[in-house]
Amino acid sequence: MSKRDYYEILGVSRDADSKDIKKAYRRIAMKNHPDRNPEDPKADDIFKEATEAYEVLSSEEKREAYDRFGHEGVNAGGGFGGGGGGAGGFSDIFGDVFGDIFGGGGGGRQRGPQRGSDLRYTLDIDLEQAVHGSTAKIRIPTLVACKPCDGSGAKKGSKPVTCSTCNGVGQVRMQQGFFAVQQACPHCRGSGTIIADPCTSCRGQGRVEETKTLSVKVPAGVDTGDRIRLTGEGEASPNGGPAGDLYVQMQVRPHAIFKRDGKNLHCEVPISFADAALGGELDVPTLEGRVKLKIPPETQTGKSFRLRGKGITPVRGGSTGDLICKVTVETPVSLNKRQKELLQELQASLAGDDKQSPRAKSWFDGVKTFFDDMKI
Ligand SMILES: [Zn+2]
Ligand SMILES: [Zn+2]
Repeated sequence: MSKRDYYEILGVSRDADSKDIKKAYRRIAMKNHPDRNPEDPKADDIFKEATEAYEVLSSEEKREAYDRFGHEGVNAGGGFGGGGGGAGGFSDIFGDVFGDIFGGGGGGRQRGPQRGSDLRYTLDIDLEQAVHGSTAKIRIPTLVACKPCDGSGAKKGSKPVTCSTCNGVGQVRMQQGFFAVQQACPHCRGSGTIIADPCTSCRGQGRVEETKTLSVKVPAGVDTGDRIRLTGEGEASPNGGPAGDLYVQMQVRPHAIFKRDGKNLHCEVPISFADAALGGELDVPTLEGRVKLKIPPETQTGKSFRLRGKGITPVRGGSTGDLICKVTVETPVSLNKRQKELLQELQASLAGDDKQSPRAKSWFDGVKTFFDDMKI
């Protein structure tokens, strides 16, 4: 079986620089790493092939030899596990490329003190509180550092001792096939210390459950989805590290009158048809109290009026939004005899004259054209 070209294996051009080569190898190796694909022998082959290609192309000397003489030039045919320098070389590559992923950090298990978990809390607030800002008291169940042992988990007067299995590092190196993998120490579970005499209050955990009451300052202008971070108010660390953070997420309740659209507010204002026809002045609500809204004569239903600056000032700054009032003309109900007579008088006086109903006129004109076109 002829060997594939190393550049082809990594999917890079012949003049690719070392950064591109490393990136390409990392991508392939991450996807096909045997730890992630234990059931897939093909992934294992791809992983080995890419590793071999990377070992050559990442070394200036070997790459030059390969470029000049091909596979013969680097004599990499022997594979990895067996060769004298092979295994060591492999570990070096491994640490170099995967350092932050399979090594100490980032992989979920860390050596030494661990940060406590972050917490999330959804805070329901009224529109008024969101717009003007407020202070809310919240109660949140969490884990806090145990007081009697000061979070150490060891009984008062005693101290956790250094784990002898990992010498306090919290990690052990395991040989898996031909490469070494860092794992959390099974004896101390990654903490690096062993508690010989556990604290009785927390049973050696160093943390206890507690419902904390916190006061959250909600700044003016927040909207649903905005988050406030309270540093250090998350769960306590399990082993003496810093506490996590608490994220308070805003959820603004629907309002009876106003609908919010970003920094603008919308509301609907019913008006009588006499006001709509003659014009007038209305009291409309805003979040700052009532204001007057002038309705011009001959206002049709559905018309919107914009009250500038009566909306919301966004929490991140910028101009204040507007209040948009949409008027709806309301048909009068429960009319008495006299009111009905007046309307009948009005009706009679309007009959046969379509100048007073511009929309009806254009509608009827449209219907007429439609039937004419249909030749009915
Ligand atoms: Zn304790
Ligand atoms: Zn240990």
